[in-house]
Amino acid sequence: MSESLFDQASERLAQAIAHVPISEDAIERLKSPKASLQVSIPVRMDDGTLKVFQGYRVRYNDLRGPTKGGIRFHPSVNMDEVKSLAFWMTFKCAAVNLPFGGAKGGVAVDPKQLSKFELERLSRGYIDAIADFMGADVDIPAPDVQTNPTIMGWMVDQYSTIQRKLCPAAITGKPLAMGGSIGRETATGLGAFFAIETLMPLLKMEREQTTVAVQGFGNVGAAIADLMSKAGYKVVAVSDSKGGIYSEKGLDVPSIINYKQSARKFQAVYCQDSVCNIVEHKTISNAELLQLDVDILIPAALENQITEVNADLIRAKYIFEVANGPVTPAADAILEKKGIMVFPDILINAGGVTVSYFEWVQNRSGFYWTLSEVNDRLKQSMVAETLRIWEIANEKQISMRTAAYVHALSRLSEAIEAKGTRDYYIQ
Ligand code: NAD
Repeated sequence: MSESLFDQASERLAQAIAHVPISEDAIERLKSPKASLQVSIPVRMDDGTLKVFQGYRVRYNDLRGPTKGGIRFHPSVNMDEVKSLAFWMTFKCAAVNLPFGGAKGGVAVDPKQLSKFELERLSRGYIDAIADFMGADVDIPAPDVQTNPTIMGWMVDQYSTIQRKLCPAAITGKPLAMGGSIGRETATGLGAFFAIETLMPLLKMEREQTTVAVQGFGNVGAAIADLMSKAGYKVVAVSDSKGGIYSEKGLDVPSIINYKQSARKFQAVYCQDSVCNIVEHKTISNAELLQLDVDILIPAALENQITEVNADLIRAKYIFEVANGPVTPAADAILEKKGIMVFPDILINAGGVTVSYFEWVQNRSGFYWTLSEVNDRLKQSMVAETLRIWEIANEKQISMRTAAYVHALSRLSEAIEAKGTRDYYIQ
């Protein structure tokens, strides 16, 4: 692919600018990140050797508040990817009206190749390297692909050690015992579920008649598959990095989750087994899953899954982007021509950062909420922002993606203009 991921991300901004009055100053401010950091992280391995890993953190924009975004451990992490994810976080936080800007971080590593001790040393080493760049009022990391509460716990402990005081609000997605919020682990899936449920009557669809395929069975993929199957949708296919399974009658999602959990060979850090080892179902490849004739397709794995190469083969009626950036701009255009509606990541997966915000609020006030308080507030926000973006799409006759960017851009430009633009100085 010739276009970088960041070029693709910027295309979405360019499309939205045409539909919202926005000053030149605001456009200039949003074109590039506030600060980018690349670090080398030396880690002593169990066999005594030293390995140096590359880590990244990008703070894209902090005009609406401290920057916020996850940390990814994956071999393909690089500056272009982290910058793009930080850009999306900026728009996501604005789209759902959180008082945060956007950031992202990551380490280029296959964490499944590390022992648990090595993984802990890497996690702490990453925080040593970025400690001056983060903090509860500056930049607040959280989990993303292949990072989880255990890793956030090590990280917040390391940050607190450096600061010589407890700093729970500096990282979200922590274990409950270290100041995490109840409801955070399932929040991205639950937020997506609230958005889908809000849209179902507007799309004139009914749960029982709706088939669903989910790509990716990690933190968010498993949660959304579980919520949808429990609510009565027919989840016919799920997959992970090793492949997928399909059943025309619908899968028993809780039993697949149990299988994956019982197959955790890495003492609750990573699951080493795959859904495709569940032998009683038909196995399918990830490419086949994406091309299934289903009502709803949910990409919940990684970016760039539906591109100009396979967009024409997609047969789903609706795509809900639970992963970040699974559909490229070139694929958007092809899907639109085919009449397939795409509901964008910056709205659909915003539940995770919303409950991360609740966690930060609870840490700062020292007062912890119940699960129903967390989930009710999450629902209120997801429903209101989904309906508003639906209205904008209809009013302006634009796609849901462009409408979500227009919505976010209006809030971002308000913050930029509140600081004074060229118009204040030149009459
Ligand atoms: P995870 O590491 O828990 O799970 C990722 C899943 O995707 C795993 O099941 C993995 O096997 C699968 N996978 C990886 N490569 C694949 C491929 N090529 N084909 C099919 N499946 C593949 O990560 P996660 O936290 O569930 O994140 C998934 C996506 O959701 C990412 O795009 C992430 O940025 C986004 N997201 C996560 C959160 C969160 O709170 N964790 C919030 C918002 C968005």
